[in-house]
Amino acid sequence: MIELDRSFAIVTVDVQNDFCPGGALGVANGRKIITKINEVNALAEEKGALRVATRDWHPQIMEEHFKIWPVHCVQGTPGAEFHPELMTEGFEIFSKGMDPKEHGYSPFEGRNEQRQILNEYLQQHGIENILFLGIATEHCVKAGAMDAVAEGRRYQTFLTTDAIAAVNATAGDEKRALKDMQDAGVILIETREIR
Ligand SMILES: [Zn+2]
Repeated sequence: MIELDRSFAIVTVDVQNDFCPGGALGVANGRKIITKINEVNALAEEKGALRVATRDWHPQIMEEHFKIWPVHCVQGTPGAEFHPELMTEGFEIFSKGMDPKEHGYSPFEGRNEQRQILNEYLQQHGIENILFLGIATEHCVKAGAMDAVAEGRRYQTFLTTDAIAAVNATAGDEKRALKDMQDAGVILIETREIR
């Protein structure tokens, strides 16, 4: 059981049209998790926790990234918009994947409107705990959670296992990603354990 307060940041990763069913890189459970994500964020608002949303925000040409993945989340296209069911009011938005030479998987590579990087923003708000949810478990969510527990950051890092969605290109990818995160010190919880 965890109790949210001002030391928490909720980081909602890439809940965009292209990552939801029907999108360029639609993930099976992408839409299903939105209700839970909204619930957690509503609770976070009530408790004074910081709410951050990241978005994949690519230029039209991505050197390597668009060789690995179908073209997705191109700046200004409907696919790059947050899913309409996601309640985004009060979110601080961080955009990532804007460098055509990089992949931009990790939320920690994101920048807000003031061009501030995520870590700086979290530090500025005295954040000690981060709770991740969103898409896709084994890519951007994992990259963020691993960065959050990495040397020099040491946030207490939580992952809500019922508010994430995986690509699962190979069977078991999600399971392996969860284990890797857990081994690195990420704490796995369910939304019903959040107060
Ligand atoms: Zn991308």
